[in-house]
Amino acid sequence: MATTALLLRTHLACKPPPSPPARASSPFVCRAATAAAEALRSLAPPARPELLSLDLPGYDPARSRPVDLAVVGGGPAGLAVAQRVAEAGLSVCAIDPSPALVWPNNYGVWVDEFEAMGLSHCLDAVWPSASVFIDDRRVKSLDRPYARVARRKLKTTMMDRCVAHGVRFHQAKVVKAVHNEASSLLICDDGVAVPATVVLDATGFSRCLVQYDKPYNPGYQVAYGILAEVDEHPFDIDKMLFMDWRDSHLPEGSEIKERNRRIPTFLYAMPFSPTRIFLEETSLVARPGLAMDDIQERMAARLRHLGIRVRSVEEDERCVIPMGGPLPVLPQRVVGIGGTAGMVHPSTGYMVARTLATAPIVADSIVRFLDSGGSDSNSISSAVAGDALSAEVWRQLWPADRRRQREFFCFGMDILLKLDLVGTRRFFDAFFDLEPHYWHGFLSSRLFLPELVMFGLSLFAHASNPSRLEIMAKGTVPLAKMIGNLIQDRDR
Ligand SMILES: Cc1cc2nc3c(=O)[nH]c(=O)nc-3n(C[C@H](O)[C@H](O)[C@H](O)COP(=O)(O)OP(=O)(O)OC[C@H]3O[C@@H](n4cnc5c(N)ncnc54)[C@H](O)[C@@H]3O)c2cc1C
Repeated sequence: MATTALLLRTHLACKPPPSPPARASSPFVCRAATAAAEALRSLAPPARPELLSLDLPGYDPARSRPVDLAVVGGGPAGLAVAQRVAEAGLSVCAIDPSPALVWPNNYGVWVDEFEAMGLSHCLDAVWPSASVFIDDRRVKSLDRPYARVARRKLKTTMMDRCVAHGVRFHQAKVVKAVHNEASSLLICDDGVAVPATVVLDATGFSRCLVQYDKPYNPGYQVAYGILAEVDEHPFDIDKMLFMDWRDSHLPEGSEIKERNRRIPTFLYAMPFSPTRIFLEETSLVARPGLAMDDIQERMAARLRHLGIRVRSVEEDERCVIPMGGPLPVLPQRVVGIGGTAGMVHPSTGYMVARTLATAPIVADSIVRFLDSGGSDSNSISSAVAGDALSAEVWRQLWPADRRRQREFFCFGMDILLKLDLVGTRRFFDAFFDLEPHYWHGFLSSRLFLPELVMFGLSLFAHASNPSRLEIMAKGTVPLAKMIGNLIQDRDR
């Protein structure tokens, strides 16, 4: 194999994915709530991984020439890039432990985000508007259609395009990357080695190959969701429930109510019919993250209060999303996209739409370089250009305006981390009263720094007096941190 002649430069081994530090659940948990959570958990079916019936062309381990691009991870991020690079005529190998597995997550997006990418056909349920319950008295109607992603259809569409354009699949986990000047070698857990000119790490939150040089200290969004058949539910089936911050389901003076007062959770729901609904109790962000059993207890109490009797659970999801924290080392040899590359929105936990919109930018920059002669891995120029290509791709992924935007979103997260239930309610009361341009743009990462400053001022102007005082008291340190980071970034 040509790879035996590699001049080894760096060896990077995949570390096991970090498990989030979870807040220990309280020893003084209400017994009835614990029993109800246990009953809820017992309805969850055993995990039944769903597979696509596709005939996937396999990677040939005897191939000696490096593939132009090896994509590690077959989530939305990895497949979107693999597809586009293959469409440009380059050779691509996609490596994933279960390439045919239907993605397990229940993705929600704003319809305009998918429309802008020509992906409306990959939505399987659309709600013309959404609602936000601030408390028992205040409810807001959001005039912005929301949808659930048809994850099976989206993955099938992307896999079909990959297959049609010659992507080869290898079913394995990458355990290590070895780089030389001109190309890299990916070592898989089945012993196969895949040589590649460019390596893309798209392993989500496992962050397999991409390196970080600062302490990893994200906040965590933690949620428990069920797709359930219920006797009935109280929600309008023409509206998705974006956030329900009511806490009347928790007994006055109880320990669970106090926990929710300090670190609140909200209900997110997609009502598909009067008897079929996706319900998810969510901690927007906390550091350390809330314990899953705490979230389940709150959810069980809420469902009982709302009169929702669960008949059966079709699927459940345990969601742990690291939010904010430092960006990976910029640039570095392995390129990244999606969860591994810090692309989660630090104030919301959303990512799928932004990743799919960014994939063509990453793919096109890879193609541009490789097309300009770099794919001849035997040439000295490509050896030098290996790092130059990565630097170019990272620049496209995280240009200065995106880095500044992320810094602002991290500032938003730092404020949210400090708000209790009352503060959180005040915050969202003002947030959803903003001009749609601002709140749409903030949630969909469409505002950049000058507009984000206007957004911040507008939010301040809409806030109640207690909320303004709170933002000033709790936002000063995060604001100073953001300004410091922006200055440091400018000097880079
Ligand atoms: C439960 C849940 C619900 C979410 N809901 C939403 C939502 O509603 N809207 C939204 O915008 N975002 C949502 N997110 C956030 C984010 O959009 C998703 O996490 C998204 O799946 C990330 O895409 P990705 O392609 O970066 O990574 P992933 O989808 O996690 O894919 C990574 C892939 O890499 C593979 N892999 C890992 N390690 C290796 C290795 N060593 N070698 C080879 N392959 C490897 C994995 O098997 C996996 O197939 C959710 C996240 C979770 C966890």
